[in-house]
Amino acid sequence: MSGQIFRDVVVIGGGQSGLAAGYFLRRLGLDCEILDANDRPGGAWPDAWDSLRLFSPAQMSSLPSWPMPPPKGGYPSRDHVVGYLAAYEQRYSLPIQRPVRVKGILHSAGGLSVRTDRGTWLAKAVISATGGTGQPFIPPYSGRLLFRGKQIHSSAYRSPDEFVGQRVLVVGGGNSGAQILAEISKVAETAWVTREPPRFLPDDVDGGVLFEQAMERVRALMEGREPDRAKSGLGDIVMVPPVREARDQDVLYTVRPFTRFLPDGVVWQDGARTPVDAVIWCTGFRPDLSHLTKLGVLEADGRIALEHGRSLRQPRLWMLGYGDWTGAASATLAGITRSARDTVQAVQQFIAGDHAADP
Ligand code: FAD
Repeated sequence: MSGQIFRDVVVIGGGQSGLAAGYFLRRLGLDCEILDANDRPGGAWPDAWDSLRLFSPAQMSSLPSWPMPPPKGGYPSRDHVVGYLAAYEQRYSLPIQRPVRVKGILHSAGGLSVRTDRGTWLAKAVISATGGTGQPFIPPYSGRLLFRGKQIHSSAYRSPDEFVGQRVLVVGGGNSGAQILAEISKVAETAWVTREPPRFLPDDVDGGVLFEQAMERVRALMEGREPDRAKSGLGDIVMVPPVREARDQDVLYTVRPFTRFLPDGVVWQDGARTPVDAVIWCTGFRPDLSHLTKLGVLEADGRIALEHGRSLRQPRLWMLGYGDWTGAASATLAGITRSARDTVQAVQQFIAGDHAADP
């Protein structure tokens, strides 16, 4: 390894977060490389279900310097986003190597050693942008493994075809739950299970408001005050057309969680039993940070102690795009530009100081 070239920066992940970081790194003239485990562009977007629509309009969903071209009508589809991200990396000739999976990162004299399934990269700084959806989350339920019906997580859902005529539980009260329930309820008997009644945004607001809500939360945090309820309490679920249609057909009512599974159904809190053929878990994700295990930066709760996105335990590591804990709304297209710009500026200052340390 000695005598190998040190990149200024290695970015792990070539989704929207990695691309936004790559844009600013190139613009600042930093020598960087983006390593992405997928063999195709788009980050996790190609894995979303067929009919998925953004909850934010194109003009609120752009990466730095190139507005997302508006789709023909409505909010951008999954494929529109994938096409935009693929074109983005071409447009800015971003230095992406794929498929390259980062297996681990170790300390190395003068920087970090990034071990991958295609060799080792050396870097003065690393930006981890591997996405917040690496690990689908399914909450513990008694008897779940005894249930003989089908169970899939929303990340594995593609279309309602395999559920026609079945009795389906959709579990989870976020945007995924609402959009998947709206679609499945057209072909199957459904029940929507949520911990509390879902909060729907008014029809005339969209993901842009979610972004504003996140910014309000950050401003409040930075000013040490409670967030302005009026600005951060509007709701969570964007009323995209399929969800509005489901509401108009009176499908969007929800039930509180069942207590346990039976081999062929579930038992509710009042003891009643319902036969069920399938469960779709729209219960979110946890980030997969296993590539950082050896670096000794993970806290007991699996998170990483950060200050402005930079690891407190390893000053050469920045985290980008994982959600509010790495930057307001950074896990959204609307929020990633601001986060990426701030992160890259901090990395540039660090590298400039690091060069100063060069013999
Ligand atoms: P990802 O897109 O997950 O990309 C991460 C990349 O890192 C992937 O290419 C992966 O292969 C790579 N990677 C992971 N581990 C490694 C490794 N060890 N080595 C090398 N590469 C690695 N946001 C919005 O703004 N609007 C929406 O409407 C919206 N809807 C959403 C709907 C769903 C169902 C989900 C799940 C998310 C939605 N989001 C939305 C949130 C967010 O925009 C997406 O999750 C987006 O994919 C995040 O981009 P990212 O680049 O941070 O991560």
